Amino acid sequence: MYAFELHHAKSVADASAMLAKTGGKALAGGQSLVAAMKLRLAQPGHVVDLSGIPELKGIRKEGDHLVIGAMARHADIASSAAVKGAIPALAALAEGIGDRQVRNMGTIGGSIANNDPAADWPAAVLALGATITTSKRKIAADDFFKGMFQTALADDEIIVSVSFPVPKKAAYAKFPNPASRFALVGVFVAQTGSGVRVAVTGASPSVFRCKPHEEALAKNWSAAAAKAVKMDAAHLSTDLHGSAAYRAHLVSVMAARAVEAAR
Ligand SMILES: Cc1cc2nc3c(=O)[nH]c(=O)nc-3n(C[C@H](O)[C@H](O)[C@H](O)COP(=O)(O)OP(=O)(O)OC[C@H]3O[C@@H](n4cnc5c(N)ncnc54)[C@H](O)[C@@H]3O)c2cc1C
Repeated sequence: MYAFELHHAKSVADASAMLAKTGGKALAGGQSLVAAMKLRLAQPGHVVDLSGIPELKGIRKEGDHLVIGAMARHADIASSAAVKGAIPALAALAEGIGDRQVRNMGTIGGSIANNDPAADWPAAVLALGATITTSKRKIAADDFFKGMFQTALADDEIIVSVSFPVPKKAAYAKFPNPASRFALVGVFVAQTGSGVRVAVTGASPSVFRCKPHEEALAKNWSAAAAKAVKMDAAHLSTDLHGSAAYRAHLVSVMAARAVEAAR
């Protein structure tokens, strides 16, 4: 068994100080970190539990933004009246994550900090142009996701909340891996105050904005326009679940389904 020391932080400042001092890892729902530790892919000597920090909790509407605390569980978001009222696409996305246990434990903060190539939340955060508030600063979604399991976060930086501007229309569609429900390809489409934004997860090493679909949908917001886009497979992933060419095809199919579902 791996050896590590568990710390229970009581505030964001407390957690940041513990991470800086020990070089440890933050623990949210443990759905990715604990699995990585069991596989020895991560071997932190110190783990800082964020579950006792009130500042990281809660979901609230602030003007024309929906603010979701980093420790909000997927199940909390799926069932939140505030989320369903402001951005129902986020509640639907949360409901489609993993299984009941994963949704009851996993958090939005943990998901975007982890930036798994097939995770659902990064697509919503990027497509909606959300802002990530951390223990140090505010980071625009366009500057946050840096590559496979890579983000702009420093080692001792903690996500406090994610602020989503309420879009005119938005929806998410994914082709799930039948075993894990992770996205083989997931596409989030949004009509935002700054135009059409489309983000794709599952298709490449990290979530990305899909310019061909953004341009097509800005001209003609329709499922047919989304489906007609021929994606270049050159930078997409091939693995045992599907080829790059298959993923390229799925991007346009999922984009069309998302446009049809957008409210
Ligand atoms: C069987 C299974 C199926 C799954 N299916 C899906 C799916 O369909 N779609 C999907 O999107 N995901 C899926 N997941 C992943 C799940 O959504 C996890 O919730 C997510 O990957 C990590 O969230 P967590 O709260 O468990 O974070 P943890 O595992 O606790 O942490 C993950 C990483 O984020 C860091 N971290 C956590 N919180 C913060 C914070 N506030 N600030 C800074 N860093 C932080 C940790 O240090 C760690 O490096 C699945 C997981 C499992 C086990």
